[in-house]
Amino acid sequence: MKILVINAGSSSLKYQLYNMENESVLAKGRVERIGFESSILAHEPEGKEEVTEVSEILDHTTAIKKVVQMLIHKEHGILSSIDEIEAVGHRVVHGGESFSNSVIVTEEVKQEIKKLFDLAPLHNPAHIMGIQAVESTMPDVPQAVVFDTAFHQTMPASSYLYAIPKALYNKYKIRRYGFHGTSHDYVSDRAAAFLDKKPEDLKIVTCHIGNGVSCTAVKHGESFDTSMGMTPLEGLMMGTRSGDLDPAVVPYIMGKVDLRISEVNSMLNKHSGLMAISGDSSDMREIEEGMDAGDTNAKLAFDMYEYRLRKYIGSYAAAMDGMDVLVFTAGVGENSSTLRKRICDQLTFFGIELDDKINETRSKNERRISSSNSKVEVLVIPTNEELVIARDTYKLINN
Ligand code: ADP
Repeated sequence: MKILVINAGSSSLKYQLYNMENESVLAKGRVERIGFESSILAHEPEGKEEVTEVSEILDHTTAIKKVVQMLIHKEHGILSSIDEIEAVGHRVVHGGESFSNSVIVTEEVKQEIKKLFDLAPLHNPAHIMGIQAVESTMPDVPQAVVFDTAFHQTMPASSYLYAIPKALYNKYKIRRYGFHGTSHDYVSDRAAAFLDKKPEDLKIVTCHIGNGVSCTAVKHGESFDTSMGMTPLEGLMMGTRSGDLDPAVVPYIMGKVDLRISEVNSMLNKHSGLMAISGDSSDMREIEEGMDAGDTNAKLAFDMYEYRLRKYIGSYAAAMDGMDVLVFTAGVGENSSTLRKRICDQLTFFGIELDDKINETRSKNERRISSSNSKVEVLVIPTNEELVIARDTYKLINN
């Protein structure tokens, strides 16, 4: 069975085509600048040359049509016909309180996702456009949706409620939802399998450190608390997002510099984090290069980023009254041995001891980077959100 996984953004669309017989990726790619005259389709078919095509792609339906054309292209394609695609799985950022599992797309499901536009104005409308684009291009193909928030629906009220008037929760559903759930779910599960233990027997802190950054306390296989909140802005310092700050800062800034709500949102989401403190980059590789070259702003950005991560890890160990496993994942977590070392070398209170040599070794595999004396197992587990979406879609379609 071949399943197409789609992650539709407002002006971009990423895709991966899976052969579920062996869970291999047959092709992947992305469409960028949807809605502009010179949109770009970059296509990577397995075992063939990567191709890039520039054309006018004004909407998501055209984007999906272009992707399908590429998948069945004589030279660059890997399918003989569109009929080979038996199902499509979509990533959906916000499932609110309505979805604690992946589901097959129906009219009701679409209506629920639309009701959540308010909570995820940048993401959910784009996901609906992606779903509708598939409907019009492949009307008979079943679709499933996999939510970033679903894994965190197990959090107790003491984790998900904010200490503000309860009416705001009752009326507007203002609460912590958490994100990157597909990733936290996958890596915590893989961590247990790697250690040959059951998830129910473990207290795991998972750190997803990419452009977006979040930590989750995974207690006995379920999300118990997580750092992102009602939106993916709360919690840790990120590439361009501020993470936690005193909420009083927002009205104060708006009064001082006469900013509109959209401008404050943009400042906190797009012009803060590593970018704001280093003054020049949101990319951890460049921050580390700057730090090595003696750039004091890059060093401060790194120090703040690392310190906040370490505080969250400590607080989640306290929240679960223990930590058996610490997992690093995503672009920075999987690749930055410097960040992992700085964090672990200052968590000795928990009995963490890193094996420096293994930590430094570059690998794409799941691995243990703690020493045999360490009281906490420290693992690097590469995340694979697309595979989870493909698997969930496969399961739903076959039931
Ligand atoms: P996204 O959240 O967009 O999915 P990724 O998980 O791909 O992001 O992570 C992207 C980030 O990973 C980049 O911003 C970059 O800073 C970081 N990264 C990638 N490779 C390395 C590396 N070798 N060392 C440090 N950071 C890296």
